[in-house]
Amino acid sequence: MSHLPSIALHGGAGNLARYAGTGRLEEAESVLGHLVDHIYTMLQQGASAVDAVTEAVVRMEDTGLFHAGRGSAPNQHGYVELDASIMTGHNLEAGAVALVRRVKNPIKLARYVMEHTSTVLLGGAEADALAELQNFEMVDASYFQPCDMIGGAIVGHPSSPSTGTVGAVARDTHGNVAAATSTGGTLRKTAGRIGDAPLIGSGTYAKNNVGAVSCTGIGEYFIRNAAAYAVISRMELLGESVGSAAGTVMQHIHDLGGEGGLIAIGPRGEVSMPFNTSGMYRASIDAWGKRIVGVL
Ligand code: ASP
Repeated sequence: MSHLPSIALHGGAGNLARYAGTGRLEEAESVLGHLVDHIYTMLQQGASAVDAVTEAVVRMEDTGLFHAGRGSAPNQHGYVELDASIMTGHNLEAGAVALVRRVKNPIKLARYVMEHTSTVLLGGAEADALAELQNFEMVDASYFQPCDMIGGAIVGHPSSPSTGTVGAVARDTHGNVAAATSTGGTLRKTAGRIGDAPLIGSGTYAKNNVGAVSCTGIGEYFIRNAAAYAVISRMELLGESVGSAAGTVMQHIHDLGGEGGLIAIGPRGEVSMPFNTSGMYRASIDAWGKRIVGVL
């Protein structure tokens, strides 16, 4: 049976109101609008959910507009450490990388780990080495152009969420779902710190006939709530709608003092995109063709 595709993207949650008047919000909105249309068309033409989320995240990593891939900001010691993960809902396979520094597209490496190794999460220099061995595109420090630079300074405060982890969730015409997340982590993070993005169950989760989730925000709170899996399990075990499950998990994060947001697809291709920050870069087209593109 053919299913109606659906797709949701995020470019991170945070204090986006501070960018008002810089043109940056409009630019991100336009990029996300074009991207969501492109990925939706891919899905309508029969692309798999895993190909759709990979393509979406690669493109967002490459824009330099978000705090992932090219746009990643350095950690406290001045170099980037990138995290990413991907999961496919039809077989619960997953792959992730943490603390990579030289691979151009961490999400491609996460997918390689998922499809070609027996490991789920590979970290540090050995992950970069695998990428090099497999002829992935490698970059040096000069490639990275922190997206949080305005007028030559990195804006934002270490205790506030970064503004641009990227993520995608999709359901394809076969009914398969997938989720992917990629990040440079929180601003000026402690060297060696790993957030929720590469942790399956915290930042990313996908399970057929239930849904797919990608999170953004202060990762520690999402880890402590096993946020992505919490959304899935509320839908699966409690029978909650995607909106109710996603909203409840965001409330739990808020109650602990956490900030951020998430995107989720439900079993029929419904979309929910809650956040408790001043904004979240987001775009979606649900199974009924309803299109949303928003920032604040
Ligand atoms: N969740 C990411 C992390 O904690 C950051 C973000 O989404 O802005 O690494």
